[in-house]
Amino acid sequence: MKLLLLFLFSLEFLTVPVKRAGDYDLISVSSIRKAFGFPALKAGRKSGFVAYGHKVWISPGDSTYRVDGTDFPTDEILMDSGRLYLSADVWADILSRVTPKTYYWDVEKKKFIVSRYPPSVKDARINERGDTVLLVLRFNGDLKPRIREKSEGLSVFIKRGFYRGRWKFRDSRGLFSVVRVYHTLKGVTFDIRYAENVRWWKESSPGVLKVYFIGEGRKKEASVPGKEPVKKTGKRRKISLVVIDPGHGGKDPGAIGPGGAKEKNITLSIARKLKKILERKLGVKVLLTRDKDKFVPLLERAKIANRAGADLFISIHCNSGRNRKASGVETYFLSEARTEWERAVAAYENSAIKYEIQDMVDTTDVLKYILMDMAQNEFLRESQDLAAYIEQSLARTLKRPDRGVKQAGFYVLFGAYMPAVLVEVGFLSNRREEKLLTSRKYQEEIAYGIYRGIKKFKEKYERGR
Ligand SMILES: [Zn+2]
Repeated sequence: MKLLLLFLFSLEFLTVPVKRAGDYDLISVSSIRKAFGFPALKAGRKSGFVAYGHKVWISPGDSTYRVDGTDFPTDEILMDSGRLYLSADVWADILSRVTPKTYYWDVEKKKFIVSRYPPSVKDARINERGDTVLLVLRFNGDLKPRIREKSEGLSVFIKRGFYRGRWKFRDSRGLFSVVRVYHTLKGVTFDIRYAENVRWWKESSPGVLKVYFIGEGRKKEASVPGKEPVKKTGKRRKISLVVIDPGHGGKDPGAIGPGGAKEKNITLSIARKLKKILERKLGVKVLLTRDKDKFVPLLERAKIANRAGADLFISIHCNSGRNRKASGVETYFLSEARTEWERAVAAYENSAIKYEIQDMVDTTDVLKYILMDMAQNEFLRESQDLAAYIEQSLARTLKRPDRGVKQAGFYVLFGAYMPAVLVEVGFLSNRREEKLLTSRKYQEEIAYGIYRGIKKFKEKYERGR
């Protein structure tokens, strides 16, 4: 509260005549000149003035204004009854450039907020990283942005945040655009609109907010040639393509057992065996996300399944626990973790993300968004069923402890538009299970156990339950 009061005392206001035109607040050149007492300049159709030694020129129809010989972009310059008008936001920009103070247009009160201090929001820009586009906002460390979902997008509000600059932010892929940046006395708001098949999540740290947008939506996936779009009701698809994801690989070894066995090798070996069995016994096509010891980013794996138009996605992993006696199998589907154990397993499997992005994404926010995502919810029930069938048949086949169906936020399942599960086939941290997991015969049994679960699911699924 104290800070807010101090801030308010540091402000002044400037009131000038305003003309409304749609969403725009327009202010004429002569109104500004009069308010400040700036001497006028005139040359043909061009109008201007001298402000603190700077020459400002504005001409009707131009898309720029000129200060001391340099052109700056502007919205439309309007001419009405012999007067030139610019939008209030552009005026805030011009006045901040040619006077010693900083100006912001208060859209509520219809007047300029005048500050002696530099803007508290330092920078706003768009970065593109792979197929993710982010809006990066940098501001004073004590500010706390809030994101609100709106019908057609998002709004980021930064209390006591003031931003100066042009805001024609639009990424080259058209995933989103900042449609408006506006101030009130309370602070700045960035209105963002994103395309229909775009998902977003945020990552915040003191002084920085990153809003990520990713455009691998349902629409795009449904248009894979030869694949019928998934319908919400009515006839179901046949299961004809299964994508198996051997966990980890390359520079990411996954868990390492006390005897030195690496998770990445075991998962690949099981995946290859499972592929053969599924193709032979179920007559389905099977793709592996990797067929050798190579690194595949977590966020890339479900995308491989989406692009292929897969009907099922199975990610294979080995467990690891601090308790060396822990043993048995557990199968996960993507949902919010309910127990510390579920959270710990997800945190462990998600830790490979460190090989992919420098700044750790806040899992809770990603998950919250996924859970809100309708398309994902559509597969939630089916993923849960698939997990139950696999868990049951795997524990039975292996005669190992059935640790049950579990749920947590795994990046590897994030964005999979099909029933998707992650199977923890055993504990590498348990000496006895490590030995079993490295044996070819036991791996074959694991593959059979998973196959039986998939078979049962396929039968029920294709019958429409
Ligand atoms: Zn793993």
